[in-house]
Amino acid sequence: MIVATTRAELAAARGGLPGTVAVVMTMGALHEGHAALLAAARTGADHVLATIFVNPLQFGPDEDFDRYPRSLDGDLAGCRAAGVDAVFAPTRDEMYPGGEPLVRVDPGPLGGILEGASRPGFFHGVLTVVLKLLHLTRPDRAYFGEKDYQQLTLVRRMVADLDVPTEIIGIPTVRDPDGLARSSRNQYLSTVERAQALALSRAVHAGSLAAAEAELAAAEAAQAGVKVDYAVLTTADLAPVPEGYHGPARLLVAAWVGTTRLIDNAPLTL
Ligand code: AMP
Repeated sequence: MIVATTRAELAAARGGLPGTVAVVMTMGALHEGHAALLAAARTGADHVLATIFVNPLQFGPDEDFDRYPRSLDGDLAGCRAAGVDAVFAPTRDEMYPGGEPLVRVDPGPLGGILEGASRPGFFHGVLTVVLKLLHLTRPDRAYFGEKDYQQLTLVRRMVADLDVPTEIIGIPTVRDPDGLARSSRNQYLSTVERAQALALSRAVHAGSLAAAEAELAAAEAAQAGVKVDYAVLTTADLAPVPEGYHGPARLLVAAWVGTTRLIDNAPLTL
C-alpha cells in the first residue's frame, strides 16, 4: 500500500492505478462504518484510494478540531487490511498551501438547514474539501455514508450541478449491536453518556416524527446533559414533506450528550 502525503506522491500513485478507481474520504479514527465503505469500494472498482484528512475548514471556532481523534498508524493498518491500494494523508499546508481558500463551494439552500443551521459554514468547508479531493484523486466512484445523510445529499447535488464525472454511492449506516451509529466522536462519550446516546438511534427508528420527538423529550427530561438540537422529518431529498405525501422519507436528529454533539438518521416510508 502506498502512503502519499504530498500532491506529487498522490499524482504518482494515482497514475500507477490502471482500470477503475474508487475513493473513500475520511477524517481518520477509522471504525466499522469506514470499513463498510472501504469494503464496498474494494468490490466496486479495480483499485481503492482512501484519504485521511481532518479538514479544518469544516470546524467552527468553538468546535472540536483540536481534540478530534487522530490515529494515523492504526488507520493505515486498517486501510492495509481492507485492501486499500493507496492512502492520501496530507498535512494542512499540503491541502491548503495558500492558507484557507478564499473561494469555496456554495452549498446553496440545502446547506443552510439542519447541520448547516447549527454549524454555519460547515458545508462550505465539507464540499470544498470534497471537490478538491475529487480533483486530486480523479475517481470513477466515491463512497459516502448515509450516517451523514445531508452531506451525502449535498455531495450528490454538487457532482450533478457542477458536472463532476464521479459516481456517488451511499452506504447504509453501520451501528453497534445496541443501535448506536458508529462515529469517531463516540470516543468522547463516558459509559453513562454512551447509554444516554442510545436515545438518538431509538428516535430515528421510532417510526414517526411524533414518536421520535417523544423519545428525545423523554431522554432530555430524564438525563441531565442531553440536549436536543433538532428532530426533523423530510422527503428522501431533504425537502419538507408535502401534505398527503406518500413515499420515501427520512427522520434526522441531532443532540448534545454532555459536550459531544451527535447526529443520526434513518429511512422510513410514509
Ligand atoms: P468521517 O471520517 O466521519 O468524516 O467519515 C468518513 C465517511 O465515513 C463519510 O462518508 C461518513 O458518512 C462515513 N461514515 C461515518 N460513520 C459511518 C457509519 N457509522 N456508517 C456508515 N458510514 C459512516
